[in-house]
Amino acid sequence: MNFNASIVKYLCPICGKEAEEGIVINSLLTEKAAKEVEKLNGKAIGYADHACKECSEYKDKVVFFIGIDTNKSEKDDPYRTGHITGVKKNSQLVNQCSEFIITLKDNSQYCFIDYNVGKQIGLWN
Ligand SMILES: [Zn+2]
Repeated sequence: MNFNASIVKYLCPICGKEAEEGIVINSLLTEKAAKEVEKLNGKAIGYADHACKECSEYKDKVVFFIGIDTNKSEKDDPYRTGHITGVKKNSQLVNQCSEFIITLKDNSQYCFIDYNVGKQIGLWN
């Protein structure tokens, strides 16, 4: 068979849980391309351009600070430590970090912060 359709998942850029499902099909109608698509079925293939339902509920109130290990992070691939804290939008910290804050399509906002820096300023215990 030279054609396949697979259901794939896109993750929430904030919490890393599933935010959206999508369907991929192979546009090149060869057995090889079809097999590549088949392999993706049920897998997460990247981040969504918006937050998941749970995170987006806080989009008007907080900016999410996501802890990363800067030693293990690649340039475009931050290594997440699993620490996430919502910080009130009108806080001093959010103001100070404004240039690093990323805004998603649904207006959810987040930024990455080194785990140890976050610890020092009391974001997590
Ligand atoms: Zn989420």
